[in-house]
Amino acid sequence: MEAFDYDLFVIGAGSGGVRACRVAANLGARVAVAEERYFGGTCVNVGCVPKKLFSYAAHYRDDFADGRGFGWTGPEPSFDWSVLLNNKNNEIKRLNGIYKAILDNNDVTVFSSRASLQGPHEIRVDGRTVTARYILLAVGGWPWVPQFEGNEHVITSNEAFHLQQLPEAITIVGGGYIAVEFASIFSRLGCETTLVYRRDRLLRGFDADIRQFISTEIGRHVTLKLENDVEKITKDNRMLKLQLKSGPEIECQAVLYATGRRPLTENLGLENTAVTRTETGAIVVDAQFKTDEPSIYAVGDAIDRVALTPVALSEAQIVARSLFSQEKRLMSYDNIPTTVFCHPNLGSVGLTEEQALARELSIDVYSATVRQLKHTLSDRDEMAMLKLVVDNSTDRVVGLHMVGPDAGELVQGFAVAMNCGATKADFDSTIGIHPTLAEEFVTMRTKRKDHAKQN
Ligand code: NDP
Repeated sequence: MEAFDYDLFVIGAGSGGVRACRVAANLGARVAVAEERYFGGTCVNVGCVPKKLFSYAAHYRDDFADGRGFGWTGPEPSFDWSVLLNNKNNEIKRLNGIYKAILDNNDVTVFSSRASLQGPHEIRVDGRTVTARYILLAVGGWPWVPQFEGNEHVITSNEAFHLQQLPEAITIVGGGYIAVEFASIFSRLGCETTLVYRRDRLLRGFDADIRQFISTEIGRHVTLKLENDVEKITKDNRMLKLQLKSGPEIECQAVLYATGRRPLTENLGLENTAVTRTETGAIVVDAQFKTDEPSIYAVGDAIDRVALTPVALSEAQIVARSLFSQEKRLMSYDNIPTTVFCHPNLGSVGLTEEQALARELSIDVYSATVRQLKHTLSDRDEMAMLKLVVDNSTDRVVGLHMVGPDAGELVQGFAVAMNCGATKADFDSTIGIHPTLAEEFVTMRTKRKDHAKQN
């Protein structure tokens, strides 16, 4: 191994990259990492963490209003965006330091600059060439905006985290995680929010009933323009005018495009190696995350399998352990729990009803629509929905979905049960916690008679 400067050179110090560095270094490898932008990557800087902080801020609007039904009165609270932005920025700065400290404390050599590949073992960084036995590409992704007239006026989630002023009116385009989360955030922070999406209900890929339900819930606060798209955008002084494919013009101060993210794999020197990419720029890897160049691996958003931080962490850990220990484990993409932090949250693990039917499983479906106890006094019109998909040949719960507060906290635990192969009988024999929303999952007794059509 000593023939190389390093045993492992990681490009990108985001979630996946830092995890790989730490695990490999702990296993005795000599590790270096190059990061040109910010430590912690998308998740820490312009993703999960600041988004969740914004989401907490946004929840207060409804929480303050809920309090009145419980006897709380007082002057109408007001919101100061600059306080939130400043506190958020300070917290991110603190986290950047923690990520850098993880690298330093594990004796990882850090290059705070851009690196590119010069060959299967050669990396160009800081004006010189270094060598490594293995290279890991953990370069992440970047927001993608389609080409159309006026797209120079739009912002993406990157900029949404740094707006100097909260717009009075904002239009969000897209119907995925980012669009829906930001629609809830901006609307609850007091912006007049419109969401334009080309399909008939939000969040393609999730269970169809749940998509219908969340579209209705979000529609309580956000003006939804479904089955529509933006034709062009023009700017008139400070106002942006959106011409939709159908319907009247929309006027607002900001347009946020959340139309997906693409792997950030341009200008990496891949042409100096045998590494290949898909049409959308994702690095092609095998089950061990090895690219077509045997010394080079890739994980996380750069391979665009499941663009979630915990998935990148797991992939990176598998690579580091397989290279520097005897552990050879394959990544399982089954039962990955996920939550969309819109208001209310949407949480999901396992198969949607449509996926179960597509796999020709014989299924039973249980679902409940509930008004939380809290809202009997708060008088909030928000509803919750819970749904189970059960394979009736094995009785295993193969899908669990919900719309409701803190869905992420709740679905995480059920994901463990499902990974252990929990059956509907196991759910039924579990004592509920009363009164909670979660108890609905262990008290559902009536199978739904019909099955949803394919969506
Ligand atoms: P998504 O892939 O989730 O959604 C992209 C949206 O843009 C889809 O609704 C898509 O429509 C729409 N779209 C794509 N192309 C066009 C186009 N040309 N014109 C109009 N609409 C278009 O991407 P996001 O950017 O929301 O998020 C990226 C990823 O980041 C997510 O998939 C997720 O993996 C991760 N993420 C996870 C979060 C979490 O865990 N809570 C939070 C935020 C992001 P259609 O459905 O028709 O394809």
